[in-house]
Amino acid sequence: MTNILVTGGAGYIGSHACKALARSGYTPITYDNLSTGWQDAVKFGPFEQGDLRDRARLDDVFAAYKPAAVMHFAALSQVGEAMAQPGKYWSNNVAGSLALIEAAVAAGCMRFVFSSTCATYGEHDNVVLDENTPQHPLNAYGASKRAIEDILRDFEAAHGLNHVIFRYFNVAGADPETEVGEFHQPETHLVPLLLDAIDGKREGLTVFGTDYDTPDGTCIRDYVHVCDLVDAHILGLNWLEQDNGSRVFNLGTGFGFSVMDVIEKSRTVTNRAVPFTIGPRRAGDCTRLVSGSTRAEKELGWSPKMSTLETMIGDAWRWHQTGSYQK
Ligand code: UDP
Repeated sequence: MTNILVTGGAGYIGSHACKALARSGYTPITYDNLSTGWQDAVKFGPFEQGDLRDRARLDDVFAAYKPAAVMHFAALSQVGEAMAQPGKYWSNNVAGSLALIEAAVAAGCMRFVFSSTCATYGEHDNVVLDENTPQHPLNAYGASKRAIEDILRDFEAAHGLNHVIFRYFNVAGADPETEVGEFHQPETHLVPLLLDAIDGKREGLTVFGTDYDTPDGTCIRDYVHVCDLVDAHILGLNWLEQDNGSRVFNLGTGFGFSVMDVIEKSRTVTNRAVPFTIGPRRAGDCTRLVSGSTRAEKELGWSPKMSTLETMIGDAWRWHQTGSYQK
C-alpha cells in the first residue's frame, strides 16, 4: 500500500482526509503535534507525534515510511488569534511548513498537496474570486498561507517539487458515519458554535456585525462539506500521480450564504430555537468570500455532492450528538 504523510491528520479536515485516503487504498501516516488535534481522531493509519518545526523528527518519519506524497493540513487557523499573535502564525505555519517542505525534498518526496485558504484573497468588492485573483490577505493567517504558496512555487522552480494548492472556502459538516467530526478547543467557527448554542452547551451565538454591505448586513461565505473537500484532495493526489504538474484550485461551491441564512437553516434542520445576539464586527473578517471558479470541476472532475447547507448542518448536528463530540 502507498503511504501518504498527512500532517494535521488528528485535526478536523486531516482526519476526514485520512478516512478518504484509507477508503481509496492508501495508508495515511498522521504527523501531528496534538496542539489542536485529538489522538482519538487518528483511526485510519499509524500516528507519529511531532512538530512541523522539528526537522530531525520529520527526517526520521520520512525515512521510516517513505511516503509517496504529503498532504499538509497542520496549521493554526484562527483569524482572531492571528490578529493578536501574528508571530505564532509566522512561526508555526510558515517556519513549520518550510521545514516540512525541505524535509520532503531531501527525502525525494516530490508530490505535495497543500491546504490554503480563500483568506489569502482578502477584500475584493464585487470581484469574482478565481485562482487568478490578486492575493491581499487581511490577517496573519491568510498571509502565512500565501507565504507557504510562494515557498512551494520556489521549491518547484529550484527542486521540481510538484504541488497542488487548494484554497478552501468555509469548510463545514462531518463524516456522515460520525467516525470523525469537527471539535476545536476553543471553537471559533460558525456552524459548531451555532449547534452548541442550540444544544445549550454555550449561552448563545454572537453575530459578528450586521452592518456589512450585504442584503441582510451579515457576512457572506461559501460553505463546502468536509467530505466533498477531502474528495478533492484524493483527486489532487491522482493529478500529481499522473504528472500533470503543479496547479492551484479553489474549493468552494460558488454559492454564498449569510450568517443569518446559516442561523435560519440550523433552526429548520434541528427544529430547535437558535439563541443569538448581535455584536460588533470581528477584526479581520471580509464582507464576502465566494468562489467564482469551476477549475476543480473542469480539470479534476470534482463534483461536490454534499455541500448543501442542509446536509452540512445535518451531518454536523448528528456528530454533535455522538459521545465522541466534546472530549
Ligand atoms: N461568525 C459569527 N459569530 C461567530 C463566529 C463566526 O457571526 O461566533 C461569522 C463570521 O464573522 C463569518 C462567518 O460567521 O462571517 C464564518 O466565520 P468562521 O469563523 O466560521 O469562518 P471564517 O470565515 O472566519 O473562515
